[in-house]
Amino acid sequence: MGIRHPLIHEIAKDTYLINEFGLVNMYVLVGNERSLLIDAGMGYCNLRAIVESLTDKPYDVAITHAHPDHAGMTHQFERAYLNEKEMPSLDWAAKIEGFDLEEFERNNRLHIGDWDIWEVTADMINRGSLDTEVMPLKDGDTFDLGNRKVTAYDCPGHTPGQMYFIDDFSRIAFTGDCCNYNNGTRYAASTFIRDLQRLLDGYGKTYDRIFTGHSTYCGSLDVKSHDITIVKYLIEAFRSLLRGEAVLGERHMQLFPERPPFKVVLYGPIVQYPHENNRGPMACPSYNPEMLWEEGEEHLVP
Ligand SMILES: [Zn+2]
Repeated sequence: MGIRHPLIHEIAKDTYLINEFGLVNMYVLVGNERSLLIDAGMGYCNLRAIVESLTDKPYDVAITHAHPDHAGMTHQFERAYLNEKEMPSLDWAAKIEGFDLEEFERNNRLHIGDWDIWEVTADMINRGSLDTEVMPLKDGDTFDLGNRKVTAYDCPGHTPGQMYFIDDFSRIAFTGDCCNYNNGTRYAASTFIRDLQRLLDGYGKTYDRIFTGHSTYCGSLDVKSHDITIVKYLIEAFRSLLRGEAVLGERHMQLFPERPPFKVVLYGPIVQYPHENNRGPMACPSYNPEMLWEEGEEHLVP
């Protein structure tokens, strides 16, 4: 008999991590006037009921990026905020029809080591069916929850409109998939360095801890914050790439091992990978060999 309900952890005062069966993390931030839900998971629970059990305040829903494991239950809510560049992917990411247990099994086997602890069955699938109003979210936009303010920041790379959020009350950065150890960029490496550097610059100033979209990307199944070292290593990995000194490798996409591998930069000490049976450098982000610099910045070698 496995666990059949998402795990909820209070990671700071009035700040909750909801872990959906080892797959993905969502966060509820409760203010004295409003609350905020960051990300809408995959689709195997009544997320709305969980949120409303944690707060009795009116709340907004903000999505870090339109992937099925982060925007999957968007249609449980009347309204959600999302970067405009992510909107074309939302129909796919939050599709209501044709979503089944296979998606869960495929994702979960890759996101967690211990498959046996969860028991998810088809009757738990709940993607919602509301005609959700999608509102644009821009860099610098702020959610004012009364006693706390949560600011959105662009960090394209993993997806075109990937965003992260910094909460001035818990002093946590909620980074979605923008800086997991294996997440790189499909766009200019120089842009990614700049955006990650801005995130890193805030460390110790506007936030003290990072929580990502997946616990298991930062280790075993736990509720620890993400190691800031990974952000530093991602920056250094891309710097080495632009200097022409990078150690390069190839990786198969976790979810589509049959597809041709993509190019990755290997950087940092050798560690055990959280969801694989092998070891490798701490940072192994993908990059786009066709797009190293933003146009006009080719002379800049970091
Ligand atoms: Zn993800």
